[in-house]
Amino acid sequence: AFIETGWNFDNSYARLPKSVFTPLTPPPVSSPELIILNGPLAASLGLNADALQSREGVEVLAGNRIPEGALPLAQAYAGHQFGHFTMLGDGRALLLGEQITPLGERVDIQLKGSGRTPYSRGGDGRAALGPMLREYIISEAMHALGIATTRSLAVVTTGESIYRETEQPGAILTRVAASHLRVGTFQYVAKWGTDEELRAMADYTLRRHFPEVNTDENRYLLLLQEVIKRQAELIAKWQLVGFIHGVMNTDNMALSGETIDYGPCAFMDGYDPATVFSSIDAQGRYAYANQPHIAAWNLARFAETLLPLLHDDEIQAIKLAEAAISGFSDLFRRNWLAGMRAKLGIFNEELQDESLIEDLLSMMHKNHADFTNTFRALTFEKPEDTILFGTSGFTQWYELWQARLGRQQEPKSSSHQLMRDSNPALIPRNHRVEEALEAAVKQGDYSVMERLLAALSSPYAHSPEQAEYSTLPALSSRPYRTYC
Ligand code: AMP
Ligand code: MG
Ligand code: MG
Repeated sequence: AFIETGWNFDNSYARLPKSVFTPLTPPPVSSPELIILNGPLAASLGLNADALQSREGVEVLAGNRIPEGALPLAQAYAGHQFGHFTMLGDGRALLLGEQITPLGERVDIQLKGSGRTPYSRGGDGRAALGPMLREYIISEAMHALGIATTRSLAVVTTGESIYRETEQPGAILTRVAASHLRVGTFQYVAKWGTDEELRAMADYTLRRHFPEVNTDENRYLLLLQEVIKRQAELIAKWQLVGFIHGVMNTDNMALSGETIDYGPCAFMDGYDPATVFSSIDAQGRYAYANQPHIAAWNLARFAETLLPLLHDDEIQAIKLAEAAISGFSDLFRRNWLAGMRAKLGIFNEELQDESLIEDLLSMMHKNHADFTNTFRALTFEKPEDTILFGTSGFTQWYELWQARLGRQQEPKSSSHQLMRDSNPALIPRNHRVEEALEAAVKQGDYSVMERLLAALSSPYAHSPEQAEYSTLPALSSRPYRTYC
């Protein structure tokens, strides 16, 4: 029997100024096959999982069939890549449209790896199975960790080979996002569009992501401030779980405040602020400890695009922008401190908390203590489980921390619960992700990935079955490297 998939598209992006997108039908692929489908996400979008898995459903996920109401388009954007300004755009992705969910929310449905577009430059417009599954795993893990992120609805293979260093199976990821408005979208319009187009984009962003903003005031300044606020919250959350994005170019910063574009990202094992995984980040521009600074730099680029809207007088506009940007570091620090207090089971604020936290981190750095497992050991009051145990200063620190917990009203049991809820039992460890991808891509065995995904879906459960995923990688002479 025929079942409705439940597609319920609107296309507000297609009603924006024509210069910010190109309508485009994806080139068909030869023989699509479904590799993985996110059932719970499908349900929350109002989509029927059985229908999505049917022949017709898979044809949609492969771009071979355009569902009713969709208006596929490639978005134009620009961006600073490693500090250099470039024209970019959806070079291997298409927005199918915006799904209006049963709760009335509007989310972008994007096919990533769907083929060449006018923005492809020299690229083939395609994506390989390994990286698309990697994005699926890590984005879903981030979501489960409680971090704002784009989601992954499905991965299909195309039946076509693509060529990177080697021949690889081609694949398409269906990405779900609050929107794909980026800092780079505004950079594109500010550079090549009119002030009128810029205003249209700013008003659109306000309506879509910040409907509560009072439009009687300087609403473009409020837009800037709200974007800054969300990034401060987001980057703090990254730091608190040891997530390293790896390619924080301005085109990879979403105005919605979601983590976007899982390329060379990875989670840190041993704590070292200088950690870099990306093979192309030789200078460490996007190192763990640099992420808040880079966020502020990117936000300054965003602020620059808004100058014509902030004030008629350019000097005044610059002053407003600078004041807003200078607020970022304080906002970040407050979010980060609140999160670190929670990781240590602390409810109230004391002046010495910062040094308590910094002292722990500095011992962790010196001993290269595993970031996730150290906080987990503290959560369960098993100091002997960390490699800090027996090292200089640790016992003293532990006693100071215990005394600190004793100076708040909340009982130890509340601290323990707070820590359980703030310190994940597991993260998508690089070696476990690689193992899952290897089984999937080389052997066509998806069971390793499915087990990993199941474990990652409840990182705060602290269940015994998760224990196997907290083991550290074998010591290797070569550092872990990621690729775009
Ligand atoms: P990313 O590094 O994924 O943020 O991508 C940066 C830019 O390169 C974006 O404009 C992408 O659309 C484009 N791009 C990445 N891979 C490809 C590809 N295989 N073909 C065409 N464009 C691509
Ligand atoms: Mg990108
Ligand atoms: Mg170091």
